[in-house]
Amino acid sequence: MFPSRYWREIPQRYRLEAAKCTGCGKVSFPPRSKCPKCGGVEFDEARLPEKGVVKTFTIIRVAPSQFVEQAPYAVGIVELEGGVKITAQIVDCPLEDIKIGQKVRIEFRRLQEDGCSGVICYGYKCVPAL
Ligand SMILES: [Zn+2]
Repeated sequence: MFPSRYWREIPQRYRLEAAKCTGCGKVSFPPRSKCPKCGGVEFDEARLPEKGVVKTFTIIRVAPSQFVEQAPYAVGIVELEGGVKITAQIVDCPLEDIKIGQKVRIEFRRLQEDGCSGVICYGYKCVPAL
């Protein structure tokens, strides 16, 4: 069984679904119940841009148990067009080639597979963009 948190996050994980405050236009991701900028509580659905720039990143060499097969890997903070920042794994790129300021795009990929139940988790990852 997955914790309920996983299921609650599915829409965001699949669609990069964000919330745009109807009061001030601030885009929150993941969506929040209250706007962090103006305190508004009404939102429009917004879809995040799929392109962004690596602001900072770190190489994970000792991974949590569910990701241990993937280590070492890079996790970056990526600023998407429009200024929303997300944290995601950076893949399809040699670790030594990852640079701050690198352009990336967001793709949905398999995150991990639960060996016992065969359940596959999907989520977003960043791949280098030309
Ligand atoms: Zn607002």
